[in-house]
Amino acid sequence: MPSHDVLIIGAGLAGQRAALAAAQAGASVAILSKVHPVRSHSVAAAGGINAAISVADDWRSHAYDTVKGSDFLGDQDAIEVMCSEAPGEVMHLEHIGVTFHRNEKGELDLRAFGGASVKRTAYVADITGQAILHVLYEQLMKHHEQVDRYEEWFVTSLLRDDAGACCGVVARDVRSGRMEVFSAKNTILACGGAGQAYSPTTNALIVTGDGIAQAYRLGAPLMDMEMVQYHPTTLVENGLLITEGARGEGAVLLNAEGERFMEKYAPNKMELASRDVVSRAEQTEILEGRGVGTHGEGIYLDITMVPRKRTLEALREIVNIGKDFAGVDITREPIMIRPGQHYIMGGVKTDVDGATSVPGLYAAGEVACVSVHGGNRLGANSLLDTLIFGRRAGEHAAARAASMAMPAVSDEQLHEDVALIDGLIARPREAGAGGGPAPRRVSEIKAELGETMNQYVAVYREQAGLEKALEVVQRLREESERAYIDDRGTVFNQDVLGAIELGYMLDCAQAIVVAAIERKESRGAQFRTDYPERNDEQWLKHIDITLNGDGPAVSYSPVTITQWQPEERKY
Ligand SMILES: Cc1cc2nc3c(=O)[nH]c(=O)nc-3n(C[C@H](O)[C@H](O)[C@H](O)COP(=O)(O)OP(=O)(O)OC[C@H]3O[C@@H](n4cnc5c(N)ncnc54)[C@H](O)[C@@H]3O)c2cc1C
Repeated sequence: MPSHDVLIIGAGLAGQRAALAAAQAGASVAILSKVHPVRSHSVAAAGGINAAISVADDWRSHAYDTVKGSDFLGDQDAIEVMCSEAPGEVMHLEHIGVTFHRNEKGELDLRAFGGASVKRTAYVADITGQAILHVLYEQLMKHHEQVDRYEEWFVTSLLRDDAGACCGVVARDVRSGRMEVFSAKNTILACGGAGQAYSPTTNALIVTGDGIAQAYRLGAPLMDMEMVQYHPTTLVENGLLITEGARGEGAVLLNAEGERFMEKYAPNKMELASRDVVSRAEQTEILEGRGVGTHGEGIYLDITMVPRKRTLEALREIVNIGKDFAGVDITREPIMIRPGQHYIMGGVKTDVDGATSVPGLYAAGEVACVSVHGGNRLGANSLLDTLIFGRRAGEHAAARAASMAMPAVSDEQLHEDVALIDGLIARPREAGAGGGPAPRRVSEIKAELGETMNQYVAVYREQAGLEKALEVVQRLREESERAYIDDRGTVFNQDVLGAIELGYMLDCAQAIVVAAIERKESRGAQFRTDYPERNDEQWLKHIDITLNGDGPAVSYSPVTITQWQPEERKY
């Protein structure tokens, strides 16, 4: 049985940064990922990473912008940690080889991003995530004697010992179908978000909420789950992202009347107001009949005023996306976009060292909720979150491991997971002899889940729609228990993994809807048309969701306020 001081599930930016930190602290480390590490979803990150590195900036200004962006739901102690450590982290990346863009004076160049009071986003064209991920992977190679890599291994369950601590995982080798137990003194979840619970989404097919659901099933509370970010600029055709970097470079939003409508909603920041504000403005224009496109379903993003040379240099990926996926040359004509699901602000509740309430279990990156994003994440703060809290979790877990013995782990869960997968593969495709509805395909259930979430739990929400969504999610959970798959083999059986992922997405969706029903106010990404005002008196608090028996139980925890008292948010 493989045994490690620190076992990291996920090899995106949070996981790789945690692995590097734990290895440098002297721990024996394993990093395990269901896809090859550099195919992790972090590779898609485009526009950049925030840090107050310019002489005109200060980390406190970054922290205040983040607190305001969060609609005062973010925990200010955690935000202070993230923003004060940001400049050091970005310089560290530069020193290990990330080729950040430089200006004519040879200084690190910074671009404007939404909700920021100054330019503070460092970038590598519009492939920032890819650039950082590849450099971190290279760094991990240097530590190969301490860091074992399990590439294309899929975790099916977290393990808990008799004392209630997390002591490892059960995982399946995707290549062969072999199942194995891994024991660990500490396990760090770095499994990313849950965007695939929505359709469409900007997130890759692998972003299925595995870590969030696994921690929840183990008893760890989830926090801020109602806060789901809709990004203002996603392609109408398929939900692909057009980075906020485009607006940072000067692109504007236009309605069917050719009006730059953000003047009405955010006269100071215009297109660079926070994402929740811009997405709501676009959705309002669409709902009130001023959308563009055959059915008025979109908004124009016009970048033609930015010099073509600059667009081709700094935004080359979205030039390609425009051409390949919408048939539009964005350097010459506007492109049709609309708000689309992008990011989950909620996740596994942790402290600033990534520790959850379960001893030995840590979480970092999009899977976690520290909470630095509160009700709304500022663009370019997620890469920062993954790196700062990935590193801190790695360091903390390594230090904890130094004074522990390796836990004893049983095979019980392994046998349960093997039986579950065998049962899943053997499921019939027809209705049983007793009648009842015929089982559905996993992919059909996933599609209905995504469409339901996008219809009822999106930019605008209200009680009846949320209740409808909860009802559908409950029915889909029942149907998922009988859902069938086609592939009955063992080698690279993605069908089996898809069925397991569906269960994770349903857990996440249920937690999101329950929390959205609970929060009877409008704050950040949660806009309730039946409760349109922010209500600090009753709702300046986090909603925590814990698994109680078979279903979610709701409780609350306080928001940490250090130096910035809540005030009305205007852009
Ligand atoms: C198109 C796009 C552009 C973006 N651009 C930016 C940007 O410019 N700036 C910014 O700050 N943010 C950006 N974001 C957000 C940011 O990219 C993500 O929030 C961040 O990269 C998440 O990193 P992570 O390490 O937490 O998870 P991920 O990179 O998603 O990695 C998750 C890892 O977990 C593994 N995993 C998951 N489940 C299992 C399992 N069951 N078993 C084993 N392994 C598992 C996966 O294989 C993967 O290695 C963007 C997001 C999108 C969608």
